[in-house]
Amino acid sequence: MKIKTLPRPHCDETFTSWIYRCAINPKCMNVTQGDVDSYVRQWRVGGERIDIDFDLEAAPFVTLCTDIGLDLSCAVPFFSLPCFTLPLSYWFRYAYCPECLDSDVQVFGFPYWRKEWCYIDCSCCLLHKRLLSILNDEWHTDAHKPWRAFANVNHAFDTILDNSYRAAGRRHREPELLMREQYACRVQRFLCVARRSKRIFLPRLGRDVNSSCVLQCSNILLCTFLSVRTDRQVGGIARQLLTNTPDKIYHANLSKRSRMLIGAEEAIPYIRLSAVLLVGWIFGVLRDSEFNEMRDSANEIFYWLPSSMRELGRAATSFDGIEEYLWYINLFRSLSLDLREVLMPFLMGVDERCEEDKKSVFAFHGSVLSLGSREGNRLRWFD
Ligand SMILES: [Zn+2]
Repeated sequence: MKIKTLPRPHCDETFTSWIYRCAINPKCMNVTQGDVDSYVRQWRVGGERIDIDFDLEAAPFVTLCTDIGLDLSCAVPFFSLPCFTLPLSYWFRYAYCPECLDSDVQVFGFPYWRKEWCYIDCSCCLLHKRLLSILNDEWHTDAHKPWRAFANVNHAFDTILDNSYRAAGRRHREPELLMREQYACRVQRFLCVARRSKRIFLPRLGRDVNSSCVLQCSNILLCTFLSVRTDRQVGGIARQLLTNTPDKIYHANLSKRSRMLIGAEEAIPYIRLSAVLLVGWIFGVLRDSEFNEMRDSANEIFYWLPSSMRELGRAATSFDGIEEYLWYINLFRSLSLDLREVLMPFLMGVDERCEEDKKSVFAFHGSVLSLGSREGNRLRWFD
């Protein structure tokens, strides 16, 4: 994209990163740092959230573009989110590759923020084949974060931490699994190709399938594996595998949909990497022999990985009731038949989990309900 009087945005640069570079550039008179700071501050106004990187129909974006004379028909396609791509929530877009930022400063004299770092399924840098680091400070929502990330000296240590993990993370280490970054990059590359093409070769099936179906399926699975832990429900499997850092508990009564979405939007890169590896295994991008090798090396250091798709389905998620289960199974109905064929063993495991939950969790909730009514009676006695 080339715009008169404004610096050229890099391919894959976020809108906020570019507009900040425009404001800093002494030759650029159209936009000031004040304009950008007040634009970025609008990511949260009261209880309302605006995605200032990707919500390109929102009033603040349209107003800013109009004020600086930017043609919307040119800017919107360039900065928009690719189809079937789930972004992290704005507060959690603090993962970055330090080597990319170092090379930016050397080559361009200025670091910039990549769109890819904002996607749920991108936990690693494809160029440097490393897990993304975390900018672990309290100002990561403002426009200056590329510079602060560049100046962050604690890149390596911060990869497993975020604010909610900080205390626990310093006491726990994550296992260094053989090839995990290389495998995750392979899966990420597969999903990148799916974003750019209509059909893609699915190794598990041995034939081409519709790319948008693959991406939808990957999104459902990622949200399943990353769903948050609440007082009543265990978290998704990716939050428990290959880690001994205690998972954050959300003290709220969240629906399955909310648990899945919040979990995916707020997950740190390390946990997303585990989820991406599982998705890669389901699609066959990670061969069974490779996954088995990884499982053996994990077992040697006392970590567990599922030995079959059915076992993965059984351990992947949990249900709060039969309605949740039906809602969840319905998500897969929109996928093509061939993808549902791939998922069959996984979904059989999910069925088994629902049966187990019926016996334990649902029964437990039944007793809680009857207890609730007894509590109600007791409270009335107090009146
Ligand atoms: Zn990099």
